[in-house]
Amino acid sequence: MKYYSTNGKAPIADLHKAVVKGLAEDRGLYMPERIKKLPKEFFDTIETKSFQEIAHTVADAFFGEDVEADALKKIVYDTLSFDCPVVKVKDNIYTLELFHGPTLAFKDVGARFMARLLQYFIRNTQNKQVNVLVATSGDTGSAVANGFLGVEGIHVYVLYPKGKVSKIQESQFTTLGKNITAVEVDGVFDDCQALVKSAFMDEELNHHMKLTSANSINVARFLPQAFYYFNAYARMKALGKADNLVMCVPSGNFGNICSALFGHEMGLPIKRFIAANNANDIFYKYLQTGKYEPKASVQTLANAMDVGDPSNFARIYDLYGKSHERISSLISGATYSDEQIRETMRQCYAETGYTLDPHGACGYRALQEGLKDNEVGVFCETAHPAKFKETVDNIIGGDIQIPERLAAFMRGKKQSVEMTKNFDDFKAFLMSR
Ligand SMILES: *Cc1c(COP(=O)(O)O)cnc(C)c1O
Repeated sequence: MKYYSTNGKAPIADLHKAVVKGLAEDRGLYMPERIKKLPKEFFDTIETKSFQEIAHTVADAFFGEDVEADALKKIVYDTLSFDCPVVKVKDNIYTLELFHGPTLAFKDVGARFMARLLQYFIRNTQNKQVNVLVATSGDTGSAVANGFLGVEGIHVYVLYPKGKVSKIQESQFTTLGKNITAVEVDGVFDDCQALVKSAFMDEELNHHMKLTSANSINVARFLPQAFYYFNAYARMKALGKADNLVMCVPSGNFGNICSALFGHEMGLPIKRFIAANNANDIFYKYLQTGKYEPKASVQTLANAMDVGDPSNFARIYDLYGKSHERISSLISGATYSDEQIRETMRQCYAETGYTLDPHGACGYRALQEGLKDNEVGVFCETAHPAKFKETVDNIIGGDIQIPERLAAFMRGKKQSVEMTKNFDDFKAFLMSR
């Protein structure tokens, strides 16, 4: 499969290059040249298949031309070492729980898949270790670090702003050891990002060591997210509830919903989609006006969706031939204030006993408000509510249980390298490795 850039000015890439580079030379996002339709027979019996079997078929359509069959199957099965179940919340509203992975958020799926695919591509360059640099404001670092943990031939450097991520988040990438190094930068997130960017551009450093990114726009991180939408359809079909399915995705950078749309293009019978936003309403406004006007993000309770210029908009725009009409006839939007998020979490808990996290709350509310009589809705719970324990406890007046695998991180011993925000210091550190 060939990959082109959404900006149309970079050379066509193969999968190997698209995965190692992440972003195209013209700063566009890579798109697969073709999206294969899956046959009707696949959907006819999909409810009899396991999550891994379904994912393997989907992975084969995306990556089968470029990865040996046995290796691809192993990558898929290793990635999906946990389930993404569909759970009933109330009549006609179900949730796709994406938080059963190691760091309790949906990003585990893409990060685990990418780590294994990257390892596959570098398998023949044995003595040359690949170094992944990732800047994080909290959640990406944990998903990437845990996704790559123990993967041979790859070392991960997680740069994070000192004192600016929550203790829970910090513990998820500073306690791992092995091939993960946490770099605690005396600065803000943008300083971390700037250090990573400078590193990629520094010739001497790139000569010294092989560097790559694990950015969320990487095709190996975003496409595998389609797996769980096919699985959700299968599980809903088994319940006899799949005929008028509405998929609602709490969205920030729009990678997650974009993978669902790719699934739809492959023939997944979802009737329509809802992108649920917090107060960062750029996509919502685009749907109403046809104008895409990025702006600075505002801080909200659903902070993983605080994005003012969603990167994957470029992919959605490209996928539908830049047609506002096509986009807005398939996807509708919703936008909620922090107050509405709180109200929804309280109301859902009181009415159904289900504990929403602030991101999932946007999805649940959008279905409650937007679902028509004959439709059944599934919204993504993109993270476990315990990841936001203080906020969630405050809002619903409870004491939410911290799952053991999260508690285990918090008991671990913190190890990090202190760093200034000066690139020369960071470079000297990497050169000494
Ligand atoms: C990253 C994230 C989102 C947003 O997903 P996008 O793919 O960026 O739209 C939503 N919820 C949680 C918990 C996240 O970590």
